[in-house]
Amino acid sequence: MNDMVHQSVLLIDDSPDIHHLVGARLRSERVNLLHAHDASEGFQLAASKQPDLILLDLDMPTTDGITLCRQLKAEHELSDIPVIFLTGTMDVQTKVLAFELGAVDYVTKPFDAVELKARVRSALRTKRYHDLLTTKAQIDALTGLWNRGYLNDRLAVEMSVLERKGLPVAVAMIDIDHFKPINDTYGHPFGDAVIQRIAGVLGNTSRDSDVVCRYGGEEFAIILRDTPSAGAMLVAERMRKAVETLQLTSGQTPVPLTVSIGIAGSDRVDDTATDSGKHLLEAADRALYRAKKAGRNRVEG
Ligand code: GH3
Ligand code: MG
Ligand code: MG
Repeated sequence: MNDMVHQSVLLIDDSPDIHHLVGARLRSERVNLLHAHDASEGFQLAASKQPDLILLDLDMPTTDGITLCRQLKAEHELSDIPVIFLTGTMDVQTKVLAFELGAVDYVTKPFDAVELKARVRSALRTKRYHDLLTTKAQIDALTGLWNRGYLNDRLAVEMSVLERKGLPVAVAMIDIDHFKPINDTYGHPFGDAVIQRIAGVLGNTSRDSDVVCRYGGEEFAIILRDTPSAGAMLVAERMRKAVETLQLTSGQTPVPLTVSIGIAGSDRVDDTATDSGKHLLEAADRALYRAKKAGRNRVEG
């Protein structure tokens, strides 16, 4: 989604001539062209490279374009990639089927260079907007952190990826102590500023690989990737301290702030269930509850 990064286009076609031709036609475009010569290579490249657009030959031996398109659309991670069919002739029924399967467009061979470019550009432009909107829907407006929906999705992904690699993952749940009185005393806008300030601290004290989210009102959750429980406790303690030493004031009045943190790590929560991410969150929430009960401004794991 960075303008400096070229979008990538995956061409899946069994004909070397078409690869040559499309390569020549799109040379002047700011795109990375990837090449696959049959459906199975195409599927693998789509999965590993996550291209922004797929140009898909309708007529291929072994597995045809329609079948491959169906397979791509059935795959959660690939279903958002727009597909443009490349076809010789295409009867109305096949056209309708292609659109029903989620194709965004088709180009008839032999294709005109200008037309191909225009259609590729248009599909890539739409993909950019799509990506932007998807990202926006996952970001919390007040803090700029990831939101709860994103946390849940991401946690499920991280658990499966890291478990497969045998790496530990930990979750921290963070809740601002006695936040209600802060709102009541200094007003809601001040309360919002406090939430933003603490979001900033959490961002600054975590690693780039950590996924920092606003879980709800004055609660945050962090996915600590490749982190054992003991390490997560250290990180959490660093965060707790950083909040405690913030010197926030309302006018001249100092406003002391603290947070309570609950930690759960996959190396301690023994769980092979498919929703192990959810269980990890629940365990972190229970630890947070213990931290509150034990007097607040502390970390429990
Ligand atoms: P505890 O130490 O037990 O966590 O006490 P608390 O007062 O923080 O606990 P509680 O969860 O009961 O209160 C959270 C309050 O956070 C309730 C609500 O007024 C406030 N709040 C929730 N979302 C927002 C928000 O977006 N902005 C502001 N300013 N306040 C919020
Ligand atoms: Mg709360
Ligand atoms: Mg609270």
